[in-house]
Amino acid sequence: PTNAASLDGMDRIKVCVRTRPMMQWERETGTKDIVEIHGRDGVVIMEPKVALDTSHYTQQHTFRFDEAFHEELSNEDVYRKTIEPLVEFVMKGGKATCFAYGQTGAGKSYTMMGTDNAPGLYMLGARDIVNMLQPGHKIWISYFEIYCGQLFDLLNKRKRLHVRENQFGKVCVTGRMETEVKDLRGVMKVVENGNRLRSTGVTGVNADSSRSHAVIQMDVRDNQEEQLGRISFIDLAGSERAADVMDTDKQTRHEGAEINTSLLALKECIRSIDQEKSHTPFRQSKLTHVLKESFTGDSKTCMIANISPTNLSSEHTLNTLRYADRVK
Ligand code: ADP
Repeated sequence: PTNAASLDGMDRIKVCVRTRPMMQWERETGTKDIVEIHGRDGVVIMEPKVALDTSHYTQQHTFRFDEAFHEELSNEDVYRKTIEPLVEFVMKGGKATCFAYGQTGAGKSYTMMGTDNAPGLYMLGARDIVNMLQPGHKIWISYFEIYCGQLFDLLNKRKRLHVRENQFGKVCVTGRMETEVKDLRGVMKVVENGNRLRSTGVTGVNADSSRSHAVIQMDVRDNQEEQLGRISFIDLAGSERAADVMDTDKQTRHEGAEINTSLLALKECIRSIDQEKSHTPFRQSKLTHVLKESFTGDSKTCMIANISPTNLSSEHTLNTLRYADRVK
């Protein structure tokens, strides 16, 4: 079953880090840039410390990843090193998954969803898939969010969805809306509608987007509607929310616990990919259960750990770098 993986010699897991530029307000308020990208794959973070005698010193931490993207690189640059190699694999029938991990404000949504001027990775991927599509083949999209261990359809009024595993161990999300798209504009329209539902909701009880995982899935199907390849883009909940397990508010604590569980399960599942014999604990969270096929068989996974460059975020940045370091 690992045919396609051996076909192209690509790694099954790629872990990258991306730092964003300093914001104007950060520069204006005297915040310091404590993150340095060294070469193609190295990250150094200077952790500010105040010693007992109040003189400042810094502790330096160095990490290596498959790729380290400095703040001047565009979404297109990041795309070329991460998703572009996966698209060809998907067109040959492979399953690819890309995660954006990190603290709220570190650039996950900029990377995945993009802005008007900088299309995100899902759009750049869709552009190439549309261009490479064979006659008769089609693209189908679904888009849902996972909040507090429950699935909500972002293409259908945030309808509650369920995960089912059939007798052969294949996992599917039942009742979800899928939309066929013919071109890039179609893809954008579907996702933008979903995004609107994500932030405003219809019930008034939906979370702010930092507390949920957003999952965009694009399937390539042939003219008999048989699924060929699939690529999934996941904009994860803010990693700092996992610490909300200590919050005084009960609901916030519950949300934090769910996020904590799912991010830990995700780490374990990705780690198990390369250790073929070991057990993949994908049932430990809804996120990993839904994405079971991303951790088994013929699949490739890319994680982009997004970090903020400022000293104000040093603790979260270090946590993100340590998480990403342990994924591989
Ligand atoms: P997150 O999704 O992790 O909460 P965002 O993607 O919303 O973070 O990013 C926070 C802010 O930083 C946004 O205003 C976004 O436009 C900006 N930003 C993030 N990454 C970049 C980047 N690489 N280049 C320019 N601006 C960025």
